[in-house]
Amino acid sequence: MSNRTELEKLGEFGLIEHLTKDFKNEQPNTVKGVGDDAAVIDCGEKYTLITTDMLVEGVHFNLMYTPLKHLGYKAVVVNLSDIYAMNGDATQITVSIALSNRFSVEAVEEIYKGIKKACELYKVDLIGGDTTSCHSGLIISITAVGEVNKNEVVYRSGANDNDLIVVSGDLGGAYMGLQVLEREKEVYKNNPNMQPELEGYDYILERQLKPEARKDVVHFLKEMGIKPTSMIDISDGLASELLHLSKACGLGLSIYDEKLPVDQETFNTAREFNLTASIAALNGGEDYELLFTIKQSDFEKIKDNKHFTIIGHINDKNSAATIVERNGTVQELKAQGFNHFKA
Ligand code: ADP
Ligand code: MG
Repeated sequence: MSNRTELEKLGEFGLIEHLTKDFKNEQPNTVKGVGDDAAVIDCGEKYTLITTDMLVEGVHFNLMYTPLKHLGYKAVVVNLSDIYAMNGDATQITVSIALSNRFSVEAVEEIYKGIKKACELYKVDLIGGDTTSCHSGLIISITAVGEVNKNEVVYRSGANDNDLIVVSGDLGGAYMGLQVLEREKEVYKNNPNMQPELEGYDYILERQLKPEARKDVVHFLKEMGIKPTSMIDISDGLASELLHLSKACGLGLSIYDEKLPVDQETFNTAREFNLTASIAALNGGEDYELLFTIKQSDFEKIKDNKHFTIIGHINDKNSAATIVERNGTVQELKAQGFNHFKA
């Protein structure tokens, strides 16, 4: 035990790979284990999907500005997003919470109001969980179960050279919402008599505090007769997710800065913070939009659809993951998205 390796040396994704690489799947019905948005299990007629995500106070949320009800809602949504990223439908969740005595029954009730709202809206059943105490703070861990027809499952790894890269909705809003909340928190800390100035930021605050998972996108794609060749949800930031797709497919890709979909409010707020909207879109994270690739032959079906933006294309295996800047220069994509363990 003389060697000590710091967690930050491997980073979140390196650590997961390091810890899981020696596990071999023994069960014939384990179709996909570690390495995608959800695990895939063959249950006969359909595939069952399973995914889990944990939210930790002080890391993923700050209760100074996060209403408990919204927190419960978001904790469900971030899990469902991973099920939809497999092109599936979510069916059940389990909820595990660790609570310190700082929390009252009424406070936990608020969290569960949010969980209930999400269950009703997304039509998933709460079927169990676990409750325990902890010394400080609050941890919520949710597991979501879903299903998908076997011929409809979409992995991170299926893209081919020349496929088009598409995102749903718009990007960077959740991150800019967080910047506004952090700014107002500092103002409040310095002077508790000051009221937070949150007017005019409605859209981006909602993107941060009450995101939605794109169940509708799975539905739209079916309606349009499009099966993506690969898909991932955007939780850590577009750049980070593009690198996951590129790595999983073993192919390069190019995206175009000028194509990135950004809402006007996100754009204006980024400017206010002396950031470019592209930085927020690429590295912000928590947008919970879907990022996917489609065959060129599906171009006509999607090109005028307001829910989707084509942002680039897949390249051959010898090329890198790159972004073409507005001035035409080509940069290699770097993931500056949320990486736990970074100093
Ligand atoms: P996502 O951002 O879609 O939730 P993650 O980056 O959290 O995905 O996880 C990537 C993959 O690694 C998933 O297949 C996940 O189940 C797996 N994974 C994450 N943490 C662990 C762990 N501690 N042990 C085993 N597998 C893990
Ligand atoms: Mg995911």
